[in-house]
Formats: sequence, structure tokens, C-alpha cells
Amino acid sequence: MRILIVEDEVKIANALARTLRGEGYAVDVEHDSDAGYAMASTEPYDVLILDWLLPGEYDGVELLKVLRKEHIMTPTLLLTALGSVEQKTQGLDAGADDYLAKPFSIAELQARVRALLRRPVAQQDTILTAGKLQLNTSLHEASFDGTPLALTVKELALLEYLMRSVGRPVSKDQIISHVWDFDADILPNTVEVYIKYLRTKIDDAHGVHYLRTVRGVGYKLEVD
Ligand code: CA
Repeated sequence: MRILIVEDEVKIANALARTLRGEGYAVDVEHDSDAGYAMASTEPYDVLILDWLLPGEYDGVELLKVLRKEHIMTPTLLLTALGSVEQKTQGLDAGADDYLAKPFSIAELQARVRALLRRPVAQQDTILTAGKLQLNTSLHEASFDGTPLALTVKELALLEYLMRSVGRPVSKDQIISHVWDFDADILPNTVEVYIKYLRTKIDDAHGVHYLRTVRGVGYKLEVD
């Protein structure tokens, strides 16, 4: 799952990015609304975290309005030091899905991000299920038929993306853009390597054929 943070306070932005990366999200950070617009309008994100007061052509609310006008409906959490009810209403009217007043706790932000990630897909719980696979996105645990799988943070993120796309083929590029950071130097080969890790831990270990190669396209998680 890929997140864009647009926040000009570098310390806050870095702290948020570090925390969210630790949870297995791919996180990009921009510090002004122009760079934020460039990224949000061209790269596929699963969640945007926008600060309200930003340097650049737009403030956070204006940036959000522009994105929504261009039909970029990425779930968005608006951050602000402006805490009044009127401002909250203005933010939500602009198309924000949620609103968090500074100062906030990291735990609260994490909970809001998880809620936003659950929103687009038909009310999915934090527990994803596909065949005998189960993945708890808040606890970062996966299991096969009730037996815990020992997965690294990246393997877990890759599996989560495949589980959210179960039955649908996804390309290596789609995988890279949802599972790795924009800045990360990732080659298509790296995806193959990680798919191989998952095959060893899931398919080979349990005698199933869940991780399919789709010739000319990429990969697909197929559970029946
Ligand atoms: Ca700011």
C-alpha cells in the first residue's frame, strides 16, 4: 500500500514517513504543494496525507479541490493546526475523507490511515482472507490454514497487495508502485525475487499453487 505525505514541516514529515514505513507501507514525501500535485496526479497512491498550510501554488485544501476536480479520488487525510469546526467543515467539503488536528499522536494517525485504506474496498476488515491465507493488516501477521507464516515486512506488503487484488492479474510495475517507494531503486527482477520468496513460504510449504505467473502480464493470486 502506497502513501504520499505532503507536509512542509520536514521533521513531522520524516517522523510520519518513518512510522508508516515501519508498518510496511511504501511512503513518498513532498514538502510543497507543487511537488505534491505532481506526484498525486501522476502516481497511484492508496492514501494521501495532506497538510493544510503548505508553501507553493496551493494550500492543502486547494490542492485537494484541484485533485478531486481531476477525478483523483484517493482517500485523503487532511492535517492541520487549524482546529475550528468551521475549518473542519471546509476541509471535508473540499473532499477530504478525514481530518486530524495538530498536535496528534502517531497512534491516532496510524488508526486513521488504516481506516482510510479499508474504505475503498467494500468494507474490508483489517483481516484479509483469500483461500487458506489470512492476513491481519494491523498486527502484520499472515497465516496459512491457521499456521503462522514467517514473512518479512516487504513480503507481507507484497502479499497484502496480491490479496487485495485476488483473482486479478497485476503487472510488475503495478506491484512496484504499490509496494515500494517511488525513490526505491527497484528493478522488475526484484519483484521476481520476492514472488519466489512467497512461493517458497506459501506454495511449496503447503502444496498449493496460489502464486501464478500470468504470461506477458505479471502475477496473480489464485486460490481455487
Ligand atoms: Ca504546514
